Amino acid sequence: ETLDELDHAVTTCRACPRLVAWREQVAVEKRAAFRDQTYWGRPVPGFGPADARIAIVGLAPAAHGANRTGRMFTGDRSGDFLYAALHAAGLASQPTSTHIGDGLTLYGVRITAPVRCAPPENKPTPAERDNCRHWLVRELALLRPTLRCVVVLGAFGWQALLPALASWQVPVPRPKFAHGAVVRLPAVDGGPDLTLLGCYHVSQQNTFTGKLTVGMLADILTTAKDHAGL
Ligand code: SF4
Repeated sequence: ETLDELDHAVTTCRACPRLVAWREQVAVEKRAAFRDQTYWGRPVPGFGPADARIAIVGLAPAAHGANRTGRMFTGDRSGDFLYAALHAAGLASQPTSTHIGDGLTLYGVRITAPVRCAPPENKPTPAERDNCRHWLVRELALLRPTLRCVVVLGAFGWQALLPALASWQVPVPRPKFAHGAVVRLPAVDGGPDLTLLGCYHVSQQNTFTGKLTVGMLADILTTAKDHAGL
């Protein structure tokens, strides 16, 4: 299986009835500002090169963001914040991400999520999170030869990611999420370590209130680059 094959396969998944219904309902009803657009309305694959050294793991696609555009963190305020920071850090070719085909390229970074379909109120159920885990496990396995660092946006992503790290030793009890948390995981087979970095999610709830500032995200990305050798 190649990353391209995986990215295509995930877009056909219908394993969670509630999320399939929701993503498709949102795609039909639309937000008024986007009523002339065709929504993606399907699972959203990861975005970024197959030889990424950093992965950014969020939560799930936003109903009118990635569920509309078909690309992670593309077309909403969370993405505006994230891509501006990636560009400032030299990890993205441009500071905005509006639609597939906008020319955006990521350098050494792959953006993905533990749940690939937009959930109502941004809240997947534990069963939906567990259903979706195998997609992330497979993606991480394909990225593994180059992957050195994962930036995890928020506690949900952190808790969903830890059981998906099949190639690395996760301590028991599992490390807790915190903004600024740094956890170094040895590989199960003696290969290169993986460093997890905790970061508050780039949601408007955090960025509008100042819980997560531009400077805080820039610091995390600088640390990620150091750990990834970028
Ligand atoms: Fe499939 Fe994941 Fe979407 Fe569930 S959330 S339908 S497992 S892609």
